[in-house]
Amino acid sequence: MKAALSQLEVVRPRDLAHAVSLLHESAGAERLTPLAGGTDLFVYLNAGTLTDRRYLDLSPLSELRAIRPAKGGVRIGALATFDAIARHAACARWPMLPQAARVIGAAQIQNRATLGGNVANASPAGDSLPVLLAYDAVVHAASVRGEREIAFGKLYTGYRRLALEPDELIVAVTLPDRPGRARELFRKVGTRAAQSISKVVFAGALRVDRGGVVDHVRLAWGSVAPVTLRSSAAESALLGARPSPDAAAAVREALARDIAPIDDIRSDAAYRLAVAQAVLAQFLRLAHADFRAR
Ligand SMILES: Cc1cc2nc3c(=O)[nH]c(=O)nc-3n(C[C@H](O)[C@H](O)[C@H](O)COP(=O)(O)OP(=O)(O)OC[C@H]3O[C@@H](n4cnc5c(N)ncnc54)[C@H](O)[C@@H]3O)c2cc1C
Repeated sequence: MKAALSQLEVVRPRDLAHAVSLLHESAGAERLTPLAGGTDLFVYLNAGTLTDRRYLDLSPLSELRAIRPAKGGVRIGALATFDAIARHAACARWPMLPQAARVIGAAQIQNRATLGGNVANASPAGDSLPVLLAYDAVVHAASVRGEREIAFGKLYTGYRRLALEPDELIVAVTLPDRPGRARELFRKVGTRAAQSISKVVFAGALRVDRGGVVDHVRLAWGSVAPVTLRSSAAESALLGARPSPDAAAAVREALARDIAPIDDIRSDAAYRLAVAQAVLAQFLRLAHADFRAR
């Protein structure tokens, strides 16, 4: 049953300190649910799958919209929208992020949906998540105890479960400087180009050193397991290897051991595996061609 709007309470904090204090006070009672762009929450409310009645409106926290260079990397406020990310010059050095931002929903969604909301919603199909994983992102969580950092690779502890305390708010995501000369590829495979949830989403980075062997590799996937993940067996098969058709065959086989796609309304497991292997083969072909062109 749809939630009756008259039964919902929306609390507006003055600033971040007030917001985390309200969240902390509510943690033992009827917890406040953070509300950012609302593009996930309103769907759940409309579908009647969300029973939460109290919401913490993050929109007054304008400091969480900022995107700025930080220690060779970039710090992106949790309330930065995907449209802002796609347009901001400071994000351009991490090209897979603006590319992902431009295929999340369509223009209306990109104008409201936030990076923090995508991360906190924790859907295995969240399109920005493999990108954050491939770039070794760090999540900044704030509470009345201060701010702490969580490596993005440690954030998801199970299907839609985060290593966040109930009174913590995501305030920013930092991308560290990225290795130079790495070949990158972002691919989202869905039913169509816009407004489609991924059947498979991939973000990869690979660098071949001067001696001709792979010295940096990240293969990050969404929609192929209960959580966004890096394919560790496939990465191990590549690291230290020379890019070659034989290496590519071993890596594609290893990928089948790394991922656990399922049948659901959007696709089936066999198709997802076939697509993931084809995307990986494309990525390795591109990396190989780069290397030969040097
Ligand atoms: C038509 C449509 C198309 C879509 N297409 C895509 C798509 O292509 N790809 C994709 O990845 N997603 C898609 N989405 C899902 C959604 O737009 C994204 O997940 C979006 O990034 C959510 O951000 P939000 O700000 O709207 O979050 P909200 O809906 O406000 O919140 C989502 C969740 O995160 C929590 N939360 C929000 N901010 C914080 C914070 N700072 N700290 C802690 N918790 C927080 C909320 O409590 C809630 O649980 C689509 C949604 C719709 C309606």
